[in-house]
Amino acid sequence: MKTFDNFIGGEFLPPSQDEYLPVVDPATGDTYAQVANATSEDLETALAKAETAFADWSGHSIEERSRVLMKLADLIEENLTALAEAESLDTGKPLSLASTVDIPRAAANFRFFASAIVNDASQMHANERTLNYTLHKPLGVVGCISPWNLPLYLLSWKIAPALATGNCVIAKPSEVTPYTAWMLGDLANQAGLPAGVLNILHGAGAEIGERLVTHPKIKAISFTGGTHTGRRIGRLAGEQLKKVSLELGGKNPVLVFADCDLEQAVRTSMRSAFTNQGEICLCGSRIFVESGIYEEFKQEFLQKVAHLEVGLPSADVDLGALVSRAHLEKVSAYVSRAVGQGATVLAGGMPLQIGNGFFYAPTVLEGLDAGCEINQQEVFGPVVTLIPFDAEEEAIQMANGTNYGLAAVVWTENLKRAHRVAARMESGIVWVNCWMERDLRTPFGGVKLSGVGREGGVEALRFFTEAQNICIRR
Ligand code: NAD
Repeated sequence: MKTFDNFIGGEFLPPSQDEYLPVVDPATGDTYAQVANATSEDLETALAKAETAFADWSGHSIEERSRVLMKLADLIEENLTALAEAESLDTGKPLSLASTVDIPRAAANFRFFASAIVNDASQMHANERTLNYTLHKPLGVVGCISPWNLPLYLLSWKIAPALATGNCVIAKPSEVTPYTAWMLGDLANQAGLPAGVLNILHGAGAEIGERLVTHPKIKAISFTGGTHTGRRIGRLAGEQLKKVSLELGGKNPVLVFADCDLEQAVRTSMRSAFTNQGEICLCGSRIFVESGIYEEFKQEFLQKVAHLEVGLPSADVDLGALVSRAHLEKVSAYVSRAVGQGATVLAGGMPLQIGNGFFYAPTVLEGLDAGCEINQQEVFGPVVTLIPFDAEEEAIQMANGTNYGLAAVVWTENLKRAHRVAARMESGIVWVNCWMERDLRTPFGGVKLSGVGREGGVEALRFFTEAQNICIRR
């Protein structure tokens, strides 16, 4: 059985109390590895290493830091096959998805921030009496906490800007999917990242995760995960007035207007509903379709759903397994309750028996109003609802009628409508006639219960630094 130990000061170290958690292969239900459950003592050791490393790393020139991160990006690409296999095994996602999305995007994250830091410009303000410039100083040792759905991709999205700006990091990947984070330690050493600059502590969120959040020497927390956890982290960090960035859940609407390119809208809405088994915070789980094309959209959508293949992640499939038994049960329970409330199951609606894995059929529901549970709560699985609308205003009201506000998708060929509706969406991101397109320079994050703060581009560089104004008399 594999063992994933903590990565502290450039070395793999067992947890101080020798306690490990099981790591399960979602496609078979078998425990295939054990992961360290880090303790307070491990956190203290990592902090000591990180604090020592900080003076050196923050003193590196920007070009030196950039070069190391570029090298790390190269190494991720060179090890793409092994990393993708690990990611697929750990999460249950199709190997093809891990190979084409997760791992390439993880490399892209390092490359982007390695380049962004070199191109970042400081502001200067002059008036008749003074000259002002702004320093962006690294914070020190920061904590990065990430979820299980896109493990390396989301971990790298946080640690790349933190490291690029000169901080040292203690990362806490999801204990459900620790494999690629564990592999990253070795690649960081190979890239020449000095010992102690990046430390990775594994283990239970409520234990080591929370200790990271509350430790007074951790200067900031960048968190991606569920809204419930985010709320708790926000409260705990708030007590210490600690800088915090929260990227949380979503219940994203897709608005399909009658004047859209229907073929594209159907095809992309399929992807936005079911990619990664619907386990992406950006998935569109509520599809609002203008009445005039509702039946046509529905028939074409269902025809495509019928062709989706669910199976072992290593095979040529569209959907793999859900991440855990507990998650499978959660998704099943949501669908059962929706059916109990009168939903019509147009496709799927049940777990699939493939060995002992955690598989769920791609599911399409209709017949419930926008206010019911399944249209309000984040299911985070391969479940989508179809809802007709008659007027643009009605669609906007329903789309905005949840506590979440991460992403929205608008399908229309009418440019004026596209701008008008996009601006009315209560969400951090709006895709018009596309989905999951990411330009890493753009701000990324949610409103309402989907989060606080923004990641991406200059926003991330600013989050991980403290701005200092220097004012000089002329
Ligand atoms: P989660 O909140 O259960 O866990 C996320 C991470 O937080 C894990 O590493 C976990 O160990 C840790 N954690 C748990 N409790 C903690 C605590 N009390 N203190 C500190 N850390 C703690 O989320 P999950 O189930 O791993 O991920 C799924 C959720 O993540 C979904 O809601 C999804 O929408 C969200 N998500 C959001 C984004 C985004 O960018 N907005 C991206 C991906 C996933």
